[in-house]
Amino acid sequence: MQQTKNIAIIGSGLVGSLLAIYLIKRGHEVTVFDRRKDVRTIEFSGRSINLAMSNRGWYALRKVGIEEEIRKIALPLDKRAMHVNEKPVYFQKYGKEGEAIFSISRGVLNRKMIDLAEEAGVVFKFEEKVWDINLAEATIFTGESEKSEWEEYQFDIVFGADGAFSRVRHKMQRQSRFNYSQFFIDVGYKELTIPANADGSHKLDNASFHIWPRGEFMLIAMPNLDGSFTCTLFLPFEGEVSFESIKTERDAETFFATYFPDIINDISNLTRDFFKNPTSAMVTMKCFPWTYYDKVALVGDSAHAIVPFYGQGMNAGFEDISVLDDLMEAYGDDWEHIFMEYQNLRKPNADAIAELSYRNFIEMSSKTANPEFLLRKKIEKHFSEKHPEHWIPLYSRVTFSDKPYADALAIGDQQRAIMDEVMKLEKIEQRWDSKEVENLILELLVKN
Ligand SMILES: Cc1cc2nc3c(=O)[nH]c(=O)nc-3n(C[C@H](O)[C@H](O)[C@H](O)COP(=O)(O)OP(=O)(O)OC[C@H]3O[C@@H](n4cnc5c(N)ncnc54)[C@H](O)[C@@H]3O)c2cc1C
Repeated sequence: MQQTKNIAIIGSGLVGSLLAIYLIKRGHEVTVFDRRKDVRTIEFSGRSINLAMSNRGWYALRKVGIEEEIRKIALPLDKRAMHVNEKPVYFQKYGKEGEAIFSISRGVLNRKMIDLAEEAGVVFKFEEKVWDINLAEATIFTGESEKSEWEEYQFDIVFGADGAFSRVRHKMQRQSRFNYSQFFIDVGYKELTIPANADGSHKLDNASFHIWPRGEFMLIAMPNLDGSFTCTLFLPFEGEVSFESIKTERDAETFFATYFPDIINDISNLTRDFFKNPTSAMVTMKCFPWTYYDKVALVGDSAHAIVPFYGQGMNAGFEDISVLDDLMEAYGDDWEHIFMEYQNLRKPNADAIAELSYRNFIEMSSKTANPEFLLRKKIEKHFSEKHPEHWIPLYSRVTFSDKPYADALAIGDQQRAIMDEVMKLEKIEQRWDSKEVENLILELLVKN
């Protein structure tokens, strides 16, 4: 057991509330501050962004004893359903038999995690925005506005779990040798809904992650427990086909009728929601260091925000917490050591998943419908089924494993180089499953 510390967590999002549960179970006093209203008190339709939970996320929940509770609000998806114009829907299994990602509503999950943290004894202070922090003293200042009178709270340790535009990080940025970068992609996203059938059933297969890849843009849909799907349209902000070019309800209707004719009639209030729902931006944010001596540490998106195309942002944030917990176990009360190890272990992995997520953005929108790409995937799958000890596909290394993201990136690059060679073989589309191809891959694996 560690010596009890008085700890503040800034941010009651997914990562902050998970950290709170870990810390309270280790015997600390934990107060969570959030600038928002308590999400549990806000009227909620049950629909919101849905997230894909995979191995790393489940592991972190299991380690702190709440996996079973969360499984009840998640739907397993074992495959992609590809909707390519003028072709019947086709399915691509994500991994081996029994492997799946899980669709889970961010709103429902966040409510549940706050409930579980509160039951365990965590104190939540909602509508208390943190405006400033004294890093050396672990003192935070909250208040109604930047100009209003602030309340001062003194803690032993402060965690910044306050998201991609973190105030805690903002304060750390003012130190010398603090590195920081942010990069917005020129694609935005908007959410739409496919409601349930009258009998409450789903309109599309509810064990699939649906994708309508259209080159520069795409639509995806993930199922909710209530029979609906949350759709996300990813589209460039500007350009010929873009959010900017869709100015009227008629434009929106023409856009969907042209590119998504098979689904246009299932999306509810399409033209109304298209203009009512916000268009949001996506950012990759990197920074270092993540900690300040034994006083302050950043976790989750406040340390490493990534674009959502690998479905790993929350999973990576949850992994931060399970790694921190391992280090608390190993180093007890030596918080400076815990924090130093934490940032050194996590930073290369956060950078790796940022890179992989960005690459997947290109892959999901433009390549998933490309015949050469599909052949590559088919060859990889065939080979990995025959030689699972030699080849785990990159997606599985990221999604269905707990091995470091940095290793997945490095091995994935090696595999890509091998597949580049394989794809150069003449008539590869006819002999993709031949012994010759298999032997070539084995040979290249030895060389690499
Ligand atoms: C479209 C989209 C799809 C995604 N899909 C997936 C997916 O499939 N799988 C996956 O793993 N991840 C996904 N993600 C990423 C995931 O949503 C984030 O990584 C995750 O929510 C980060 O959690 P967090 O707790 O670190 O930050 P946040 O969820 O941003 O929470 C931060 C909290 O801090 C509070 N706060 C902020 N500033 C202050 C302040 N000054 N004072 C007090 N409180 C403050 C906020 O109110 C908020 O409650 C997706 C993200 C997007 C945008």
